[in-house]
Order: sequence, then C-alpha cells, then structure tokens
Amino acid sequence: MFDSNVRMSRRTALKGAAAGGVGLVASGALGESMSIGAAEPPEGLTMSNDEWFAQRAWSVSANKVLPKADGTSPAVTSLAKRIHRPRSAEEIAAIVKSLPAMTPIANVCGGHEASGIALVADHDAEVLDLIELKSIDFEKEGDETLVTVGSGVVFRELVEAVKDRGGALPVGTGPGVGVVGYAVNGGLSSYFSRRLGLLGQRAVKMTVVTADGEIRVLTPEDELFTAMLGAGSALGIVVDMTFRMADESAIKGAEQLVFGFQTRAQAVEFSRRAMQFMKEKVIPNDSVSLEIVVTGTKALVATTVFYDTFKGSTAEFVKPLQDLAASLELPTLAQGHWGSWYEAAAALWPVIAEQKGSPLATSYHCAGTVGIPEDAVLDFVGDVMVGEAPLDEAAMSIVEIRTLGGEAQKGRRLPSGNCHHAFFVDLVTLYDASTKSPAERQAIVDLTNRVVDKARAVPGLGVDFSGTHSQPDDIDRSAVAAEIFGSPEMARTIEAQKKRVDPNNRFRFNPFAKFIG
Ligand SMILES: Cc1cc2nc3c(=O)[nH]c(=O)nc-3n(C[C@H](O)[C@H](O)[C@H](O)COP(=O)(O)OP(=O)(O)OC[C@H]3O[C@@H](n4cnc5c(N)ncnc54)[C@H](O)[C@@H]3O)c2cc1C
Repeated sequence: MFDSNVRMSRRTALKGAAAGGVGLVASGALGESMSIGAAEPPEGLTMSNDEWFAQRAWSVSANKVLPKADGTSPAVTSLAKRIHRPRSAEEIAAIVKSLPAMTPIANVCGGHEASGIALVADHDAEVLDLIELKSIDFEKEGDETLVTVGSGVVFRELVEAVKDRGGALPVGTGPGVGVVGYAVNGGLSSYFSRRLGLLGQRAVKMTVVTADGEIRVLTPEDELFTAMLGAGSALGIVVDMTFRMADESAIKGAEQLVFGFQTRAQAVEFSRRAMQFMKEKVIPNDSVSLEIVVTGTKALVATTVFYDTFKGSTAEFVKPLQDLAASLELPTLAQGHWGSWYEAAAALWPVIAEQKGSPLATSYHCAGTVGIPEDAVLDFVGDVMVGEAPLDEAAMSIVEIRTLGGEAQKGRRLPSGNCHHAFFVDLVTLYDASTKSPAERQAIVDLTNRVVDKARAVPGLGVDFSGTHSQPDDIDRSAVAAEIFGSPEMARTIEAQKKRVDPNNRFRFNPFAKFIG
C-alpha cells in the first residue's frame, strides 16, 4: 500500500510537479490541450484504477469488505471513469468546465476518510486527486502569521513547516490525513482544540472552484465560507485555505502515561474512574485536555496536554491517574513527557505508521455530550463502549475518550457537531482484512453496530455528530443532518447552500451524501 505519510519536502514536491508529477505521468497536457469550456475532457492518469487506489487509500471501509450473498468479499478499488492530478486552480476549473454539467466529481486530498467514498466514487465519476497542490506559504498580517495550505498538503508536511516558524495549529493526529479534507469536514484536535479551537475556526480565506468551474476567493463575509468549514466536501473544490497560526508557546507540553491491562473488566474500571477525574478536574479547567485511549493491544494510554494558561505542577496534576493504575495493580508500561506543541503533534505518527493491513479495514463512530457528562453517560461509556467494543476481535481497534469544549465551543459556530461537544468518545474499529474470514469481518461490524445502536438509546448522548468521526456508509444507521452539522438551523443552511451552489449534486462523494444532495 502506498505510504501517503512519506515525507516530501516542499521543494521536492514542487520540482516533481514541475517535471510532470511525482513519479507519475499525467496524460493529456492539461495546460495546453484544454481551454476553459473545451468540449473534450482531459484524458487523465495512465495508471490503472487499482494501482492508484492502492497508492492513495489509507484504508477501506469495514462495510465494504463484508461477504456478499455468495460468501465472497470482492477487492475494493476505485470505480472512477478517469482520475486527474491537476496542478493549479486554473487546471481544476478547466477540467470542471470541460465536463458535462451533470458529471459527478470526486475530490481526494489525503485519502483517509473512513468510508473511502471519494476514492471509490462511481463509474461515471471523474476524480480530482489534488496531491500535486503541495504549497505551504507563510505571510505576516499585522501581528499575526497566516499560513496558506494547498489542498494536497497532509498534516506531517504542515506540522513540520509550522514548527520551523515557531507556530502551532489544532492539527489532526494522522500524519497522512489531508489538511483540507479535515478542515472541510469540521476536523478537531483532541490535544489542541480546547486551547486553539477547531482548525476551521482559524480559517480566514480559501480559494474554491465551484460546480460550474468558477474560481472564487472566499472570506468569512461570504455565506459559502462558513458552510465550507463543515460541509465543504459536498459544496465545492477547495484549492487552498489560509489559517491564522498560533504561537508555539500556547502549548506548554504534555504528559503521557501508558498502563497495561489483562482483562476487559480492568479496562472498564480504569476508564470509569479516569472519566470521573476527567469530569471533575479536566472538563471544568480550560487550561488542560485529557485523552484516555483503550487499545485492543491491552494498553491504557492517558495523555494530558497542558496549555500556557496552566498553573501548577504537571506531575502533580497527573498523579491521581498514576495512583488509580496502582490501586488496580496495573503495570506502567511507559511514561512520556513532551515539551512542545511539535512533540505532541508528532507523537502518534510512529503508532499510526504501524497500523497496516492488506487492506486495512476501518470504521469510525463517535458519541458525546454538549455539557459535562452525567454519571449515567460515563457508566455507559465504561460498560458498553469500552466493555463491548470489538477490541479482541479487531486488535488494532481503539476507544478514545476525549475532552473537547474550551475554545472550540466558544469560537465561531461552524456546521459541525464537533464545535458543540465538551466530551466525546471515538470508537475506531481497525483490523487487517487479510487475517479475517468473511464471517469474522461480519462479526466485527455487527459488534460495532451493536455498541453504536446502544449509544443511540442513551439520553443526553449525541451519536455520530461529526463529518470526521462517523461512518457514512453504514447501512440504515447513518447520522442525521442536524447532529452532524451541529443544529437543525445549520443543517437547513447547508441544504440551502447545496441547492444554490451544486444543484446537480456533482460533489456527491462526501460524508454527508446520504442526506444532502
Ligand atoms: C489515522 C487517522 C487519524 C485521524 N485523526 C483525526 C483527528 O485527529 N481529528 C479529526 O477530526 N479527524 C481525524 N481523522 C479523520 C479525518 O480527519 C477525516 O477522515 C478527513 O475527512 C480525511 O481527510 P483526507 O483528505 O485525508 O481524506 P479524503 O478521503 O481525501 O477526503 C475526505 C473528504 O473530503 C473531501 N475533500 C478532500 N479534499 C477536498 C477539497 N480540496 N475540496 C473539497 N472537498 C475535499 C473528499 O471528497 C472526501 O469527501 C483521522 C483519520 C485517520 C485515518
């Protein structure tokens, strides 16, 4: 499988692009053979769909490797008619204009969305693989530093560039996740968003190609601008986005504690009591965030991030978690201290690099509360989300219990449930499909669905309220628009925007495809 996390310097990327693509030949000389409004669409890449999919897909949906009626599970690949790798806004606009107005268009940035809907697309679709748009440019505006990111940039590249400028941003954990693919679906950072807001809340400008091939520069005054920051993958093609960078000093550092467990009952008990600590000491205190991860490999990882507003001793703050593990006789497997935004931002890259499969099958689901969670919710999270998640059946799976709120809740409202929640849990189901029989794959999906269905029955718990943390291809159990966009009003605004800017539903390969279009 292609490693989209492979680090590529900006210079190398630009040189590669200038030479005709990074190891690729884009057939059809876009610049020359196409003028805007040309009748013939460009030819697209010469590589096969299978080869391209293997290069660009980080995983495949757990729903797409299930057995068919005859018991087999066909390989997942891209169904697209053609795949293009445009290198500028003008090339994107030219491709869009050259196609019939009804032709569906799928945009691919980092290739990490869990259902793979844009990568798989359909037989009529033209895919725009935006990997060539690798620019990262900094500029000063008064006291602020702005960074403009091309829509092929992934988090590893952005984090390295921002580090060199002494900055910080609320980035996602996956090094290969597309920055724009994350921002247009309301992406959140469980380590940094309590202090720095959502990345979309830091956006000040973006260049977009519309469904009719017009290039527009949007600013917060434009109605479409806000809509793009939670539902953008259904509304237009982002070419680049500009964000307000924070100073690295906003993040003081982090303490990570890793404990082992043997039985699920131990994991449930640890998480239950650690969530009480989270409820009493962390959620009311905007100067810290806490993430508790329960892994299928039998580890409990507690990561506390401290912000510049934190006063006191970080070691003292996390001591109750150490005492808790000691009281349950759980061994300490590792202890880490990160002294900067960069160390925290890059901390999970080696762990994620180990998540491999042939293919890697995945699904994402989340549940959470807008306010401080009631004890009944915490009991449910412990007993069911930790207690019944398919961690034994799919050993790469994790349950992540996280704080949000803070600046994400105080900041500008985006059409994403992510900016409303103070506490949430991610159930990330992950396994190597080559090691599971079709029946075992079905059992893993069934177990995941059972947990999600039980969560839906818990009063006060929002379920699948995020474009980046829910599984859009779940059959008959997908999220509802009002939850995923944060409110019924936001959902109505998005639906109205969709009708206005993409009446033919060209951009139909997105996490909201089920309910807008
Ligand atoms: C290892 C890993 C870690 C993750 N960590 C986090 C995290 O910390 N926080 C979080 O919120 N999420 C996280 N996610 C989820 C991830 O942010 C979302 O799935 C995101 O949408 C992936 O974006 P992408 O560009 O990589 O994927 P893609 O599949 O390329 O794109 C996702 C969607 O966005 C659309 N899109 C992409 N580029 C554009 C564009 N330029 N214009 C318009 N639409 C576009 C695509 O059409 C598709 O619908 C993680 C996922 C993984 C696998």
